[in-house]
Amino acid sequence: MVKGFHGIQGGLFMSEIRTRFAPSPTGYLHIGNLRTALYTYLIAKKNNGKFLLRIEDTDQDRFVDGSIEVIYKTLKLVGLKHDEGPDIGGSYGPYVQSERKPIYLEYARKLVEKGGAYYCFCTKERLDGLRKEADSKNETFGYDGHCRDLTKEEVDRRLQAGEPYVIRQKVPYTGTTSFHDELFGTITVENSTLDDGVLLKTDGLPTYNFANVVDDHLMKINPVVRGSEYLSSAPKYNLLYEAFGWEIPQYIHLSPIMKEPGKKLSKRDGDATFEDFYNKGYLKEAIVNYVALLGWSPGDDREFFTLDELEKAFDIKGLSKSPAIFDNNKLRWMNSEYIKKLSVEEFHKLALPYYKEAELPEDMNLMRISSLVKNRTEVLNEIPATLDFLINRLEYSVDLFIHKKSKTTLENSYENLSNAIDVLKELKDWTEEAIHQALSDLISELGVKNSLVFWPVRIAASGKLVTPGGAVEVLGLLKKEEAMERLQIGLEKLRAAL
Ligand code: GLU
Repeated sequence: MVKGFHGIQGGLFMSEIRTRFAPSPTGYLHIGNLRTALYTYLIAKKNNGKFLLRIEDTDQDRFVDGSIEVIYKTLKLVGLKHDEGPDIGGSYGPYVQSERKPIYLEYARKLVEKGGAYYCFCTKERLDGLRKEADSKNETFGYDGHCRDLTKEEVDRRLQAGEPYVIRQKVPYTGTTSFHDELFGTITVENSTLDDGVLLKTDGLPTYNFANVVDDHLMKINPVVRGSEYLSSAPKYNLLYEAFGWEIPQYIHLSPIMKEPGKKLSKRDGDATFEDFYNKGYLKEAIVNYVALLGWSPGDDREFFTLDELEKAFDIKGLSKSPAIFDNNKLRWMNSEYIKKLSVEEFHKLALPYYKEAELPEDMNLMRISSLVKNRTEVLNEIPATLDFLINRLEYSVDLFIHKKSKTTLENSYENLSNAIDVLKELKDWTEEAIHQALSDLISELGVKNSLVFWPVRIAASGKLVTPGGAVEVLGLLKKEEAMERLQIGLEKLRAAL
């Protein structure tokens, strides 16, 4: 846990808190991005600030069609409402980086004038050569400063001649640069380890390294909240803020989310994006609640939070800088708790698509199924497998009739199932009440333990060790004819085994 924050919630921070979530449109929302969005939102809300959405689409190679819609949809679904953004506007737009091209060019030129950047005309061939050379010496590639000291006349002449160029950051060769992160403290690096990275590419689009500084400044973002993968670049950003003469924002870099120690949660494994979980039937409230706890703690044992409650409880003092481990079992458990809290009607609505997937007949009592299944469901996509026995007669081993705790054996199962069949076949009214009455009367008459009758009846009716509901409920969901046939098949199975 991090102690001793200054600013933000401590009250020293005087200007308005404006945070931004700045996803790149890659087609999905990684759980780590969702967490960044959530914390960023909560910091704004907690401080009566503004939460902005900015789309970072300057890396055209990574752009996936339709992904901006995925971002809008997901934020809306989980309730992270932004105050400014591409779809709703605001005073600091445009909020899509590809629409801000002239702004970056203007500021890159300004930076050249201020001595914080320079034009570079090096060809791809030259740079490839440098890269190869560095590789052969097992060194990391860094630009060699070839164009760093071109005269203004030469630069103008080459620009006039239409030579392609990039604009590079001019990092001092000597000295050190420090930056302060609210979680990670003050970090100092030798300038000699920093590269003269590209700020504006040949196509006129900025790199992230440039765009984030220009946009965060112009959009008055403070604090800047983002993933810790940007921590190592932060000194370069500070050099840019300084070269422009701009105030450096407060930084909050968030530790990564790991699948297990040493292994990041990756989309390739199919369990790293909001969509992966939502489509499997995790409730959005449970996902948000669980994600909130990945790297933040309220300081006590409380685990359940609605978004509203998070808005009140969240405090950056509770952020942790050690990597968070994504525990799927914990999320499953939390999801099951959220499902339990639903009313049967609410659950029913969510379960309907899964009943459809399970191909349950329309005339089956689906509402009754919902009431039986709700408290046993951890994740909605398990519903079809839970209900498979209702549509198909399952293959099962006769050994299922033997159950120690119920004191059932093959012999007594045969006896009692046979008796049950005799009374059930007489029933005119095939309802749970009537079935229950008939079996209870039989049990009294025989003077045996309930389970001696219920166990073999349920096994024969379902073919499964575990079912939602007991013998009475399972029978009640089936049509009488089907139920009786199944009981008869069970009886024959037992007979053959005796
Ligand atoms: N666009 C970056 C990404 O999606 C986020 C950068 C930021 O939050 O500053 O990884």
